Amino acid sequence: MSSFVNEQNAKRGHYAGVIKDIAEKAVCPFCPDQLVNFHKNPIRKHGHWIVTNNMYPYKPVKQHILLIHEEHIEHANEISSSAWAELREVIEQETTDRNMIGGALTMRFGDTRFTGASVAHLHAHLVQSDPDASDYDPEQGLRVRIG
Ligand SMILES: [Zn+2]
Repeated sequence: MSSFVNEQNAKRGHYAGVIKDIAEKAVCPFCPDQLVNFHKNPIRKHGHWIVTNNMYPYKPVKQHILLIHEEHIEHANEISSSAWAELREVIEQETTDRNMIGGALTMRFGDTRFTGASVAHLHAHLVQSDPDASDYDPEQGLRVRIG
């Protein structure tokens, strides 16, 4: 298994096949030179961060934005002060532009055995669930697996 992805954290459906394919290629799908091969949604850059809609959004979700640190790092302790400041700016901009009056921010970092991440490259999810969706279950809500 490639150290760039964790197949154990991507067991379901089409996404499992995508991660298996990436593992076999032994490349990091979030590094900028590879991202274009695996990610088809438009991206924009803000300082150290790549901002894009997740190709495989959690459900039920209104917004699912991926915030990917441009340079390949894996641990939160590697984020520079300027990158932290830019992350705050990105969150402010995205939540304002998308009129997100509520949501959740999940950053996965480090050893993927403890994070639930399928990709080791440091990234965060900015997510807004969709309580108005037809498949919304108030008992379940939108669940995120962490490790
Ligand atoms: Zn990477």
